[in-house]
Amino acid sequence: MANPLYDALFGRHLGQATVFLQMQDGTTLTHGQFLQQAAQYAHVLTNFGLTHGDRVAVQIEKSPQSLAIYAACVQAGLIFLPLNTAYTASELSYFVEDSGARVLICDPKAQESLTPVAQTTDAQLETMDALGSGSFAQKAASQPTQFSTVPRKAEDLAAFLYTSGTTGRSKGAMLTQNNLLSNAEVLTDHWAFSATDVLLHALPIFHTHGLFVATNIALLSGCKIFFLPKFDREAIVAFIPQATSMMGVPTFYTRLLDDPRFDRDLTGHMRLFISGSAPLRAETHKLFEERSGHRILERYGMTETNMSTSNPYEGERRAGTVGFPLPGIELKITDSTTGETLPQGDIGEIEVRGANVFKGYWNMPEKTAEELRSDGFFITGDLGMIDADGYVHIVGRNKDLIISGGFNIYPKEIEAVLDAQEGVRESAVIGVPHPDFGETVLALIVPSAERAPDLDAIHAHISQSLARFKLPKKLILLPKLPRNTMGKVQKNTLRDQFRDLFAKS
Ligand code: AMP
Repeated sequence: MANPLYDALFGRHLGQATVFLQMQDGTTLTHGQFLQQAAQYAHVLTNFGLTHGDRVAVQIEKSPQSLAIYAACVQAGLIFLPLNTAYTASELSYFVEDSGARVLICDPKAQESLTPVAQTTDAQLETMDALGSGSFAQKAASQPTQFSTVPRKAEDLAAFLYTSGTTGRSKGAMLTQNNLLSNAEVLTDHWAFSATDVLLHALPIFHTHGLFVATNIALLSGCKIFFLPKFDREAIVAFIPQATSMMGVPTFYTRLLDDPRFDRDLTGHMRLFISGSAPLRAETHKLFEERSGHRILERYGMTETNMSTSNPYEGERRAGTVGFPLPGIELKITDSTTGETLPQGDIGEIEVRGANVFKGYWNMPEKTAEELRSDGFFITGDLGMIDADGYVHIVGRNKDLIISGGFNIYPKEIEAVLDAQEGVRESAVIGVPHPDFGETVLALIVPSAERAPDLDAIHAHISQSLARFKLPKKLILLPKLPRNTMGKVQKNTLRDQFRDLFAKS
């Protein structure tokens, strides 16, 4: 019997001597070696008594070995549950308890603080460090390098990814084999990946972008990966001349543009730069093309849906948009109150349906019912618009929408105007409580390195292009914007920080 995800991603590579991963220090791992490692891990996990459907929580540094734990879980029919390395022990106890994980693999440095978590949840605690050593690897060393793949069906669960949970409790998104496989197939084809590609991989592998989008595509196409522990500009500059493709969050691209070595010569061998997980500013898109001759391909997706839209590979990659729904995926813009589809050009809630959409939130049937309609459409919580040519524009998260004096204000529109002002590197516009208007607009501005912006001049200037009700009540300079590991601006942190600014005005 088959295991569709394992067969497609790993099964074809069994015993293959072609290089799969090359690390920053130049060492390499072939497909065959990687899969032998995975097989040994699968033995350890099943020797613990784990059986199909059991969860394996993993909070360790990015390494080939940590990726092999993902392969081991798929092969043994277990549910892989990667966790952000920034989470503290108390945060981790929620994930382990909520998921009912039977094994928790952590960094040796966290072992002491996580022992009580493992004890109260009855999870088996194992360790693995950034070099792949630790108690888990020790147990694996004596195991056979072949493992008989556990049969699974396309609808069986393969992974839990917890959402970042900026509003309320983090939710465990249940992803099936087919959610992951169908998306990897569509993207490999859409972005023309083949065995001749070399992917520069500097994203974390506890998130959908670095784990599923990047590695699943590489595995499916059989291409090689330069596997970097994190984004490190020196390493990127060193590896880019031999790579063909890179996937990154927008901050990767702004940081590369800050480097004078980044130019056409350096990127001459590259075929494709892909961006996602946070909005890529149109300005960055333009500058990037001027400097390198490459047009970044922007796509849109989320933990619950994998990837839903993409700019075209052939055809116009339009700055400030996320392109078209991917083949086989439906996307519509609806009214948040009535759920009715809105006319083309109107801003509304983005809803998505297709084989990419997750099965629901673990242990949260009410939340699942609120966001996943019975007809299969998932209410993403993002606001968007489809332009006359069919390109999808993301306007922001629904919860970031500002309602001031009864008017809807979309922060992105104001941010675009502010970003174009002299002396502005970037901006974030948020709504903060106001006694008269309910909420009012506040703009946080990061100055560019070259010159400090003149806030009065900016205010005068934007008054000409924005309606009065949209004008920020105040402009405040900040040295930088708070961002999470995926480069997303954390507007909830800013809202908390400036909550009382107008409280008594
Ligand atoms: P996550 O579940 O952490 O991957 O976050 C998904 C969210 O990131 C989406 O719901 C969007 O709000 C945002 N996002 C992802 N890709 C883009 C993009 N290309 N442009 C704007 N926002 C994006």
